[in-house]
Amino acid sequence: MADYSEFYQRLKKEKNQIAERLEQLRAGRQSLGERREGSPFGKREEEASEAFELEKRLALEKKLRGTLAEIEHALEKYENSTYGLCDSCGQSIELSRLEALPQANLCLSCKARRAKDAKGAR
Ligand SMILES: [Zn+2]
Repeated sequence: MADYSEFYQRLKKEKNQIAERLEQLRAGRQSLGERREGSPFGKREEEASEAFELEKRLALEKKLRGTLAEIEHALEKYENSTYGLCDSCGQSIELSRLEALPQANLCLSCKARRAKDAKGAR
């Protein structure tokens, strides 16, 4: 059994960083909304760029939330002593893959198969 404690520490750290970033985004979004309310004579151009900014933030938030969920899942797996095992086939996930992406829940071949299935379904 490989020692995954280093990955566990990395994941915990990353989880905190992402949670902090999400908090910042949320706070920033609030001030963005307040500013708009406070300026009824805002130029249309300004509003458009704010809407774009908001959209960008929302997309980033969504991405961060997805990563956070993956990290939480990986941490859970660590606590259940199943960390490093593929969610789909139960084989060990390649160590090099975990090094690059500690929250990886699928081995390379399952990941590739899923990507292919997703394409075929469309
Ligand atoms: Zn697999």
